[in-house]
Amino acid sequence: MKKNASLARKVALSCRILAKLGLFKETTGHVSARNDTDRMLIRGRGPAESGLLFTMPGDIILADFAGKSLERKAGLKPPNEAVIHGEIYKARPEVTCVVHAHPPSVVLCSMAGIELRPIFGGYDPHSMRLSLKGIPVFQSSLTLNTREQVHAMQNVMGDSDICVLRGHGLIVAGSSVEQATVTAIKVDTLAKMNLQAASLGKVPSISDEDINEFQTRTGRGNSSAEGLWRYYSEWLMKG
Ligand SMILES: [Zn+2]
Repeated sequence: MKKNASLARKVALSCRILAKLGLFKETTGHVSARNDTDRMLIRGRGPAESGLLFTMPGDIILADFAGKSLERKAGLKPPNEAVIHGEIYKARPEVTCVVHAHPPSVVLCSMAGIELRPIFGGYDPHSMRLSLKGIPVFQSSLTLNTREQVHAMQNVMGDSDICVLRGHGLIVAGSSVEQATVTAIKVDTLAKMNLQAASLGKVPSISDEDINEFQTRTGRGNSSAEGLWRYYSEWLMKG
C-alpha cells in the first residue's frame, strides 16, 4: 500500500486553514482524503497530536474505510469518527475528500433553529448558492462512532455535499481537498451571516427575482475553489 505524500500535505494544510478560521476547535474534527479505492488519509488523534491548527503531514495516517490504521504511528490513531469518512467514500465514488468540523456558527444556528437562508447576494454568491441548493440537517447531536449511526446521517444527507449535525457540527464531501475545504468555509460564512442577522430581527431573504437571476447565472461565477485555496494557503503562511 502506497501513501500519497502530496495528498497528506494537502490534508494537513486544510486542517490548518480551517482551524485558523475557527471551524475547528482544539483537537476535535478531521479532514480526510481518498488515498485509493479502499483507503484514506485522515488526521490522527491521540497523545501525540498537537491539535488542528498545528497539523503536519506526519499527523496524517493511512486507514481503511472501517477506520482501522494501516500504519504504525506512536501516539496517533484514526479518530473514533473515522467511520463517517469511510462510509461516505464507500457510498459515493465521486467523493475524494471529507471534512468534519465543529464551526460555532453552524452549531449555534442548528441549536437555535436558524435556517441558513439566502439573505445576501453579491456579497458572496458562492456562499449564498449553497443555501439555494438546500442544506440537510441531521437532528442527533451525538458523535457518530458506528456504521449504523453514520447510515442514519447518510439517510438525511443523501447526495448533498453538506450535512449539518444539530448541536454537533458539519460534514462536507467534495471532489477535491480544495473544493471540500472551500465549501466548508462558505457554509461557515453563510451561518455567520444568518446568525448575526437573526440578532438584528427579521432580516428577509433576497427577492425571488434576484434568486431566479442568480440561478440562471450558475457556473458563471469568478470564484474557483483553486483560487480560494491559494488565497487561504497564502493567508495562512503570511497572515
Ligand atoms: Zn464530531
